[in-house]
This record gives sequence, C-alpha cells and structure tokens, in this order.
Amino acid sequence: MEAKLGADIYGMEKWGQQFLTVMPNGDAGLIDIQNKNAAPVSIPDIVKDLSERGIYSPVLLRVNSFLENSLTNLNEGFAEAIKEYEFNGSYRGVFPIKVNQQAEVVERIVETGRQYDYGLEVGSKPELLIALAQNLAKNSLLICNGVKDEEFIRLAILSCKIGFNTIIVLESTKELELVIQVSKSLGEMPLLGVRIKLTHEIKGNWSESSGDRSSFGMPPDDVVTVVERLQAENMQDCLVLQHSHLGSQISDIIDVRRIANEACRFFTELRKLGMPLQYIDLGGGLGVDYTGEKQSNENSINYSLYEYCEAIVETVKYAMDDAGLAHPHIVTESGRGVVASSSMLIFDVLDTTLYDSSTLPETGDDAHHLIKDLLDIQEYLSTKRLQECVNDAIYYRDEVRALFRRGNADIKSLAHAEHIFRYLVAQFKKLAEEMEVPHQLEDQLGTFADIYHGNFSLFQSLPDVWAIDQLHPIMPLQRLNEVPHRQAVLSDITCDSDGKIDRFVLEDGISKTLPVHDIVEDEPYYIGVFFVGAYQETLGDLHNLFGDTNVVTVSLAEDGEFDLLHEVEGDTIAEVLESVEYDAPACLATFRKRVDNAVSRKELTISERRVLIAAYKDSLNGYTYFEKE
Ligand SMILES: *Cc1c(COP(=O)(O)O)cnc(C)c1O
Repeated sequence: MEAKLGADIYGMEKWGQQFLTVMPNGDAGLIDIQNKNAAPVSIPDIVKDLSERGIYSPVLLRVNSFLENSLTNLNEGFAEAIKEYEFNGSYRGVFPIKVNQQAEVVERIVETGRQYDYGLEVGSKPELLIALAQNLAKNSLLICNGVKDEEFIRLAILSCKIGFNTIIVLESTKELELVIQVSKSLGEMPLLGVRIKLTHEIKGNWSESSGDRSSFGMPPDDVVTVVERLQAENMQDCLVLQHSHLGSQISDIIDVRRIANEACRFFTELRKLGMPLQYIDLGGGLGVDYTGEKQSNENSINYSLYEYCEAIVETVKYAMDDAGLAHPHIVTESGRGVVASSSMLIFDVLDTTLYDSSTLPETGDDAHHLIKDLLDIQEYLSTKRLQECVNDAIYYRDEVRALFRRGNADIKSLAHAEHIFRYLVAQFKKLAEEMEVPHQLEDQLGTFADIYHGNFSLFQSLPDVWAIDQLHPIMPLQRLNEVPHRQAVLSDITCDSDGKIDRFVLEDGISKTLPVHDIVEDEPYYIGVFFVGAYQETLGDLHNLFGDTNVVTVSLAEDGEFDLLHEVEGDTIAEVLESVEYDAPACLATFRKRVDNAVSRKELTISERRVLIAAYKDSLNGYTYFEKE
C-alpha cells in the first residue's frame, strides 16, 4: 500500500467537492458555493477565531450560503423540469419544520423561498405556531399533517382569513368528523387534504413508513368514506390536496417514479369522483449522498437532484395526460435534501488511547518462555510472514493472560507480555503499510485500532449515527497534506460503550477505522462531521446531561474571510439540570451547607471552602462539554 495524503484518503472529492477543498497549508477549506471564485475559508481558522470570542468546540457550524444553495437548486430544478416537459402546473414545495426546527434555519428558508412560493409543513401544534409566525408568500402553502385536536383545527381554519393557505391533511375518518364539527361551529370552510396510504414499499432505514405496516395514511376504503362524507356535507369543494409520504432517504430513483405513479392513480380516481384536487403532494424522501457512491443503498442515492425533479414532473404529466385531466401543482416536503448539507459538527480530540508501543521493555533471562516466544517473533517478522506473526503474537499473549487468570503468572509478567505485544502491533502496522493486506488480516489489525476521544456526545449531536448507523462523512480538518499514520475509532465523552463511531466513509469504501495523524502536544486537533443539518439538531436528547452544543452561522466572504452572522450558546449545566426538574440554586445551597459543616468541624479550611464553592458555581454556569482551562 502506498502512503496517501489525508486529502486523498477521506473521499472528499466524492461527497464534498462542491463545498470543501484542501488549502495549501493542509487545512480543510470551505468553498462559497454561490461564489466559486472567492478564496476558500479555512475551517480551523474559523474555529480559532470563534474561541478567541469565547465560543469553544464542540460547535455546530452552519454555513449560510449552503442552505440557500440547496433550497434554490430544488426550486430551480423543478422549474426547469416543468419547462422541459411543458407541464402546466407549478411547483409549491414546503419545508417540514420537524427536520430542523431552529428559528434561524426556518426563517432563512422562508426568506429564501419567498420568491418561489415555497411554504412550510407542520406535524404538531408547536410547529403550527412557528409557521403562523412566518411571513410566507401569498401563494405558498402551509400543510398540516399529524394528529390534530380541536384547537389545532380551529387555528388552521381561521388562519386562512389572515392570508395563509393552510391545508388540513386528514389522517383518519375520525379526524374528518372533528373538522366538520369545528368548521360548522366557526361557519368557515376549511382547505382539506387527504393522506393516502400507498401500497408501494421502499427499502432502507425508513421502510416501515411505507406499505401496509405504515401507521400513517388512509387505506382506500377510508378514502372513499372521506369522499362520501364530504359530499354528504356538501363540502367536497374543500378537498384540494392529496398527500402521501413513504419515508425518508429514498435511495432508488425507480421508487420515486413508482410512488409518483401510484399517487397519480389515486389522484385521477378522486378527480373522477368529483373532488376538485389542485395539489399532488408527494411528501419527503429526497435523499442525500452521504458517501458520494452514487448508488442505491442506505447511505447513498442513485440519482441527482435534477433527475428527481424530472422523474416526478414527467410521471405526473403523463398520468394526467392519459387521464385527460388538467395538470395539478406539484408539492414535495423535502427536508433532508434541503438542510442536511448546511451544517457540520466540529469537535476537538481531547485524548488518545494508543494501542501500539514504540518501546520494548527489558526482559531478563528468567522471564517465562511464553514471553521469550513473544519476543522471538521479531526474528521472523516479514511482509511474507505477517499473518503468521500476528497469529503467533495473539496466541502467546492469550496464553499469558490464561496463566494470569489461573494464578500462575503475576501482574508484572502480564504487564510485560502486554507491553511486548503492543510493541509488536506497532511493527505489524508498519509492515502492513508497505504491502497489499488481505481482508481478514486487515480486520485483525483493525481490532488494534487507537481510540481518539472526542469532545462531543454522540447521542446529543449525532443521534442517527447511534440509532440507525447513519453514515456521515468524517475527517480531520487540518494536516490534510500529511500522511495520517494512525488508524482510530472515535469515542465520545459519555463513557458509554455505545458512544463511539467505528464506521467511516473513505475514498475506497467504508472502513472500520479512520486514518488520523499523531497528535502534537499543545496543538488542537479538530475533526469535522458533515451533513448534520437534517434531523440531528433537534433529535438529540439530554443523554448523560450533555446539552446543546454551541451553534454559529457564518457567511463566507470574498477574500477567504468570514462573517459571524448568528451565535447560540450551548446549554449551561444549570439549564440542563433544570430541564430534568432540578433546582440549580437549591443544589448549590445544599452543597454549600455541606461544605460549611466540614469547615465548622475543621475538616476543611476557609480557603479550601472558597475554591470548592467557586468550582461548583462556575461549573453550574459553564458549558456541559469538556472545557479547557
Ligand atoms: C419527516 C417528514 C418529511 C420529511 O422527509 P425528508 O425525507 O426529510 O424529506 C416530509 N413529510 C412528512 C409527512 C414527514 O413526516
């Protein structure tokens, strides 16, 4: 194996070439997607600048133009496909707030989307309140999914009187009865949609939201009941939208076409029944290519954004033309595809647990023969016999461990054997770099990977990595012009055995370890996790009571500089404690009493008392993550 530079290892060319580059000094640089001629901005420089302002890592970095860019591409993509296929309807996309509920994100989406009549989708009452506080364009939609109570429905119906196009998407026949009742009592007609359960099933992490097992959407008999009830109430004119959503991250473009096609069948049938449907809403599902493989699998997609737009517009056009119906407006509720690429998580490596040793301990003549056997491996170590040497080393080491367990070797002998073993591992890894390593041997060497301890919480900041093994591109943000000689897994600071990352996207495929550089003392080593703008920011719970990270939004400037647009401080420990119903001042008071008692018993001096109380107080008001002094 030839030693490759960091820049060539992490596959950045595949998944990030649009927005990332390696700068001459080896830093990862951000490219301004909307102004490619501008000088790239070094990410380590941004982090340094932030820490001078007192904003420390871990930090969630959001780049203004990345969000605007993907939203613009989605809308322009549909506009172009609509023109190409001479489609008569328009595109009226909506952003599902649940995918990223941060005010800054929602507000920017609304602002950027206004020129495209881009709207919002809500799935709960709090989200409805967020949407009703936004200044949406006159023709944009506000689509209400999810289970709705009377108050929700009342708000939705009345909001149409103040200029919103709020569509209540019926989830069940029972919900329809509630809507009819509220609408009668208000004397106002609602705008309605009906959520259909399609039979098509898709693969992937979200397959359960499609097909018969999906808990959302109405089966055909209920849909017919809705039509009949609306007719009976003389409310059929209210039904303007048909909705279906088959789950997130649809990886195969064929599925997009099948879904659109089946949705069109229902749509044309409902039109035949006299329903004046104007909007066909195909839900979310636009995927993100996390690995850059351009293939249909859980972490990649086999289509481009434009192919997605084309597939939908073409399918809907032909279906409507075949049925002799006017073209409807097309709605999608793309969340992931709009926001995933707009933010990245940046954290520093706090510590490393290195598996190998560069030194050999001294061994006396009286050492156990197994220890001598271990040492002797060096004599026949070569690229040809590497596998044999690895096998032998593991065998002898395990024999010493067995002796220790039975009481036949003492702790010093055990330590001695483990030390020699780690020295051998270092030699093995060095040899492996010079040769083509068979798969099984590579896996074996992978189990001797180093552990790099990062200042982040997996559960808090990357919940999908933990829950569904979502892959995000991850790479060091500096020294990309050097060869990374170490192989590591990343562990977070929760001390939880689950809190580690051991699958990585690399140029030549998925790897169990991440190539990393040796840490230089007193020099920060930053690692970036990309595409974390969708779902990750708001899913995180308070695992181990690590709170929200610091969040900053930057705007890239022409000259390689950047402007800090917006900053949200991460949670303090007091805030996190209060969220689980502790009273922080009361905690401090109890602690103080205990300290005072120790002072009166003369077990603690007055000056120790001051240090102790100050430490408790400062901690309460500080960041939940590891803070450098
Ligand atoms: C979650 C959700 C979406 C967003 O899906 P993406 O795959 O992120 O585009 C859209 N519509 C509904 C109803 C959802 O529940």
